[in-house]
Amino acid sequence: MKKLIVAIDGPAGAGKSTVAKRLAHELGYTYMDTGAMYRAFAWKVMQDEIDLEDETSLRKILSETKIDLKKDNGQLRVFLDEVDITDRIRTPVLSQMASKVSTLRAVRERMVELQRAMGREGGVVVEGRDIGTIVFPKAEVKIYLDASSQERARRRFEELKAQGKGINLKETLKEMEERDRRDQEREVAPLRKAKDAVVIDSTQLDAEGVMERIMREVRNKLSPD
Ligand code: C5P
Repeated sequence: MKKLIVAIDGPAGAGKSTVAKRLAHELGYTYMDTGAMYRAFAWKVMQDEIDLEDETSLRKILSETKIDLKKDNGQLRVFLDEVDITDRIRTPVLSQMASKVSTLRAVRERMVELQRAMGREGGVVVEGRDIGTIVFPKAEVKIYLDASSQERARRRFEELKAQGKGINLKETLKEMEERDRRDQEREVAPLRKAKDAVVIDSTQLDAEGVMERIMREVRNKLSPD
């Protein structure tokens, strides 16, 4: 059977990860979390106090940095230079840092290169901000998943609370809006809906409802009649 590329873009907290994971499972595809890759590099920038202004050395560091997404026990794990950092990258500080490093052209070029290599064979569900526009402009299925900022902040807040992270809703909303603004306004590969993307507003839809909509698109591409 044909192996598609399913691209899911949208702002933070729209529900991309939940549906992308389920979709990949349902289709027997590989799930690719590109945000985790930016987070991993942001982690390295913080740990090694990398100077983001020095583009030559930044490019060198990027070419020497190993970032891998591996599946372990049905869970996606993120490795930076062979070290599993999955559990360290989901903090508000890393969210902001990832959003900052992802404005840099050198960083984006490297990540896009890695992502294209990983998706070369198709059979992937890829979530991010520039997947349908830049990384895989020929993806067979493109989804732009959105929701109201209040609802997205509420979801993110619940997620962080469940992880035992002390944070309040107002703060979560403020951080999320700041990050979305930066992602949408950056010069290189800003968060945009691809012209041919299907927009799904998940404010009133649960994950099941979103899944159904996307599966309809997938089935159409697999057997157009
Ligand atoms: O999706 P997630 O919240 O983990 O992404 C963290 C940050 O990484 C985003 O706010 C965005 O700045 C950046 N990102 C990006 N392009 C992608 C995926 C993530 O710029 N394809």
